[in-house]
Amino acid sequence: MKRCTKCGIEKVAGEFNKKKSGKDGLRSYCKGCEKLYKEANKERYREQRKRYREANKERCRDYYEANKEQILERQKLYKEANKERYREYQKLYREANKEQLSEQRKLHYEANKEQILEYQKLHREANKERYREYNKLHHAKDSRRRDERYIAARIKNGYTREEAVILRGIYKSTKRGEQNRDTCDQLFMAGLL
Ligand SMILES: [Zn+2]
Repeated sequence: MKRCTKCGIEKVAGEFNKKKSGKDGLRSYCKGCEKLYKEANKERYREQRKRYREANKERCRDYYEANKEQILERQKLYKEANKERYREYQKLYREANKEQLSEQRKLHYEANKEQILEYQKLHREANKERYREYNKLHHAKDSRRRDERYIAARIKNGYTREEAVILRGIYKSTKRGEQNRDTCDQLFMAGLL
């Protein structure tokens, strides 16, 4: 038995965390008190861990490499148990680091372009059905957006909206491989092409 120096209650050894340098090998606060203390000093602990990691980069890396599987497994379990919190946290993080993340993605893409393209290709091939569903769902919206972009560009070049819409129609059917000689001739005569 050992008396906790915080709450003053006498408890069995199992109620105390271990401490190598302690004279009885145990911490002086019981587990419950330690938890409360840590909770109350969260920020400080986080700072402390951060400083430690920065000062012991190599040691941390070695530790990580040697315990990778357990660490990843533990993270996975923790994430699953705290899904909502993670999602909220990720959202906040992304918002707070928007520009930095975008820059990082760009650099990463440039540096790994070939692998990324190859991976995307494999992914598309392996998930054909899903891609098809997705495209079907989003095609209409994207298509409208592209139409508007095209039309806006033509209007900027001096066409009226009506003319721009006709030009868009021609452009699309030409892309589909349809013959539009008549329409094209008409437009040419009208001075639109
Ligand atoms: Zn205690």
